[in-house]
Amino acid sequence: MKLKNLVNILDDELQPEQFRDYCPNGLQVEGRPEVLKLVTGVTACEALIDEAIDWGADAILVHHGFFWKNERDEVVGMKKRRLQKLLTHDISLLVYHLPLDAHEIMGNNVTLAKLLGITTTGPLDPRERRPIGNIGELTRTLSLSDFAEHIEKVLGRTPLVISGGDHPVKSVAWCTGGAQSYIQLAIAAGVDVYISGEISESTVHTAREEGIHYISAGHHATERGGVQAFGAWLQENYKIEHRFIDIANPV
Ligand SMILES: [Zn+2]
Repeated sequence: MKLKNLVNILDDELQPEQFRDYCPNGLQVEGRPEVLKLVTGVTACEALIDEAIDWGADAILVHHGFFWKNERDEVVGMKKRRLQKLLTHDISLLVYHLPLDAHEIMGNNVTLAKLLGITTTGPLDPRERRPIGNIGELTRTLSLSDFAEHIEKVLGRTPLVISGGDHPVKSVAWCTGGAQSYIQLAIAAGVDVYISGEISESTVHTAREEGIHYISAGHHATERGGVQAFGAWLQENYKIEHRFIDIANPV
């Protein structure tokens, strides 16, 4: 497939123009014009680029790319090495950040819900035009520790659990990645537990004092679903060979 077509297909599906994001979405680094082999990963770190080179990938699709707001503009150090490897090997970098969180069928939030057995009932922030997190329900009521155990089994990572009281868990709000501050939206929604990837010192106090459980399930661990779903979808519907490469990250 032509790189141009791949970018158009992903842009059509993910509609980046509808988001106010912290990085450019779409084609961030242009490589060769034909794409047959696509690597997906969470972050365009050097280790992922190395593995993509070894596999002979034509393009890489990630959730976390380059050129973040507030990062320095100069191409030095880590940024130089990453870009140099991509350009030397003529590999494209495709990046979708918030659009990949929000996508209704293959996004990070819906794929996480599927893994955890949550039925989505609505958006976490109904004021947003394209809401990122969601609220929903478990099929049956669980104790907080049973739910945490379930998350550990499914994601392969022990979550950090902050108890907000002795209530069990049925209603859930979640937002993948570094969305711990959205706990305020979860409190407003009145759910039993809020799940995100990371945690701040203040999240602990908010959970305890507002009476909501908080589960920090891993930024990396909660954001592996979107790129994998898109890679599989591209492989199924277009002439593209896809491979997801997981570069472990404990956060
Ligand atoms: Zn993220």
